[in-house]
Amino acid sequence: MKITAQKKEGTGLYTVTVDGVEVGLGDEKECTALAEELRENLDKVNLIYDSFVLCDWTEDVDSGAWETACGNIFELTEGTPLENGMEYCAYCGKKLREAKRRV
Ligand SMILES: [Zn+2]
Repeated sequence: MKITAQKKEGTGLYTVTVDGVEVGLGDEKECTALAEELRENLDKVNLIYDSFVLCDWTEDVDSGAWETACGNIFELTEGTPLENGMEYCAYCGKKLREAKRRV
């Protein structure tokens, strides 16, 4: 993820962006501090970001059913969700991500 703090064109303010998405607005000192804080906590930022845009599906090795991060269970006859062309969770609409199998 690319985190920047820079002067916002046409204003006297600064802006903080994460991968081009504006997440903060303020004076230079505030924005520099926020950008620094985000960089130092990048792992946490990634986790929070992922939870907003991804739904993790975990296969139960015993039953073969897939448990979704949004609290549902889905069974496939064959293959994984992605192998079956499922890009989005059928329940919450977030992008589907296959998590590691629970052993
Ligand atoms: Zn979901």
